[in-house]
Amino acid sequence: MAEDIIKENEEKSGNANFIHDFIDEDIAKGGQFEGMTVHTRFPPEPNGYLHIGHAKAICIDFGTAEKYGGMCNLRMDDTNPTKEDEEYVDAIKEDIKWLGFDWGDRFFFASEYFEQMYNCAEELINKGLAYVCELTADQMREYRGDLFTPAKSPYRDRPSEESLDLFRRMRAGEFPDGAMTLRAKIDLNSGNFNMRDPVIYRINRITHHRTGDKWCIYPMYDFAHPIEDAIEGITHSLCTLEFEAHRPLYDWVRDNVTLNCKPRQIEFSRLGINNTVMSKRKLRQLVEDGYVNGWDDPRMPTLCGLRRRGYTPLSIRNFCERIGVSKVNSTVDYSFLEFCLREDLNDRAERTMAVLDPVKLIITNYPEGKTEEFEIENNPNHPEDGTRTITFSKECFIEKSDYMDEPVKGYFRMFPGNEVRLKTTYIVKCTGCKRDENGELLEVYAEYDPETRGGNTPDGRKIKGTIHWVDANNCESAEVRMYDNLFTDPEPDTGDKNFLDYINPNSLTVLTDCKVEKSMKGVKAPMSFQFMRHGYFCVDNKDSTDQHLVFNRSVSLKDSFKKKK
Ligand code: ATP
Ligand code: MG
Repeated sequence: MAEDIIKENEEKSGNANFIHDFIDEDIAKGGQFEGMTVHTRFPPEPNGYLHIGHAKAICIDFGTAEKYGGMCNLRMDDTNPTKEDEEYVDAIKEDIKWLGFDWGDRFFFASEYFEQMYNCAEELINKGLAYVCELTADQMREYRGDLFTPAKSPYRDRPSEESLDLFRRMRAGEFPDGAMTLRAKIDLNSGNFNMRDPVIYRINRITHHRTGDKWCIYPMYDFAHPIEDAIEGITHSLCTLEFEAHRPLYDWVRDNVTLNCKPRQIEFSRLGINNTVMSKRKLRQLVEDGYVNGWDDPRMPTLCGLRRRGYTPLSIRNFCERIGVSKVNSTVDYSFLEFCLREDLNDRAERTMAVLDPVKLIITNYPEGKTEEFEIENNPNHPEDGTRTITFSKECFIEKSDYMDEPVKGYFRMFPGNEVRLKTTYIVKCTGCKRDENGELLEVYAEYDPETRGGNTPDGRKIKGTIHWVDANNCESAEVRMYDNLFTDPEPDTGDKNFLDYINPNSLTVLTDCKVEKSMKGVKAPMSFQFMRHGYFCVDNKDSTDQHLVFNRSVSLKDSFKKKK
C-alpha cells in the first residue's frame, strides 16, 4: 500500500514537480526574473505550533530554494495582532531547525514592514486606487452583490484628498474600531469577489505582540502579503491552494505599488492526514480543553508531538518528498507516515528485548545462582554497530501472550509440551504454569536443553517459535506508552461534524511494569530502539529519567500472526 503511494506519485510527477517546472520556465523566459536568484519564504503566522502540514510547506519552500541554489527566508506573518506569542516564535524556529533547514540571517517579522505598508496604502490613495469607506461590516455584506449584481459603495468616488485625510486620521486614532475601512478600488463587477473593492486596512485596537499600541489600524493579509514578499525580494511566493482565488489581488497589489521586486505566487495543495485534524485553531482547542497533554503530546500531528513520538527529521522529509506536490487537495493515509518512519528506524534503530506485559518464566532444570553471557548484535543491518552482552539465568520475564494452556491453530509459542527458542540462548520445553484463584497467570515453567546453546538444535529438529525475554535477575523496569489514533473517524472535521465528538477514548494506554534489558539504564532522548517483535520505541523527551524510564511507542512492526488472523 505504501509502495503503491510512492509509485503513484513518482508516475504522476515523473519525480519532478510543477513548481519547479514554473520556475524553470521563468528562468528560461528571463524578463522580470532575469539574473535573479530564486528566493522563497516560509511565512507562518505565530499563533500556534507547526504541524505536519507545515512540514510539507517547509520542505517545498526551503527545498525549492536549495534546488536552485537560492535562499529561503523565515518570516513571522504577524500582521494580525490577535493571539500571537513569543513562545510560538521560538518553537517554530526550533522545529524548522530540527527538520534540518536553515534561513541563515534572514529571519523577519512582517510587522517590521507596517510603515512601508502604510506608505503603499497612501500611494494607492494618491493614485485614485483606494478610498476610505464608511460602510459598517453589516452594510458591506449587504452591498456585496452576487453573481448578477455588482457590489456598491457610496464612498467609492470621494476625492483622493478626502480619503487621504480620513486615512491619516484613522491612523491617528480619531475613529472607533469598525467605523471605516480603506478599500482598494478595483472592480465592483468582478466575478472574483476578492476583487470587489476588498478592504485593505481596518481599525482594530489590539495590542500587538511586537509593535505594542503603536498602531490602531492593521493591513489585511491579501494586501500585506505581496508587499512583504516584494520588500524581501522574494521571486516565488509558494502557498497553499486556498490562495488561488486571491492571486489576482496579489498581482494587483504587487503591480500597483512601487516596489522593486515582482514576486510570482504559485499554489500547491494542502496536506491532510486521516484520523487527525490539522488546523492550528483545532489543535489549540485540544490542548486548552485538556484532550491531550500539551502541544507536544505524542498523539498530536504537531512537529513537536511527532518528535516526542519518535519521528525523525529524515522520516518526515522523506514523507513530504514522496507525497509529492500537486494541485489537488488530498488526504494521505496515516499509515504512510508510519511507513516512512518504520523504514528509517528499521535501518538505524538498535534492536533490544523488552517485555511489555511480563510473566516470570522459571527454567526448572537450570542451576540456581548461575549466570551465562551471550553476545547479541545491536543492529543486524549494521554489523559495524557492534554487539552487546546480555545475561541469562534461571528466571526471566516473557510476555503473558507468549503462553497458552491450549494452543490455537498456528500458535507456536509456549504451551505445555512445546519447545520454543528463547532468542539467542537456548531451546526450552514448556512444562506448565501456575495461576491464582482468578485464573491470572503467575508463573510459567520450562526445562532447557543444555545442548542447544545459541538456539541451535544439534540434531536439526525444527523449532517453530522464537520468543524474546529479559533476565529477571538483571533488568530494568520501565513505563511504556502505547498510542493509537487520536480520532476514531478518518475525517473528523469534514462537513458539519464536530471533531470533538470523535475523540478516541483509547488513544493512550500506559503500561507501567514493563521489563527492559539492563543496557537501557540511562538511555536518553532522542534514542530510538526496536523492541523485538513489538515495534519501534523512543525515550520520552520529557518524562524519562535515570530512575524512571519512559518509552513511547513510535510505530508498530507488522505483526505476521495478527495479520494471518
Ligand atoms: P492553519 O489552518 O493550520 O492555522 P495556516 O495556513 O493558517 O494553517 P500559517 O501559519 O498561515 O497556517 O501557514 C504557514 C504556511 O504553511 C503557509 O504558507 C501555509 O500555506 C502552509 N500550510 C499550512 N497548513 C498547511 C498544510 N496542511 N499543508 C501544506 N501547507 C500548509
Ligand atoms: Mg493562518
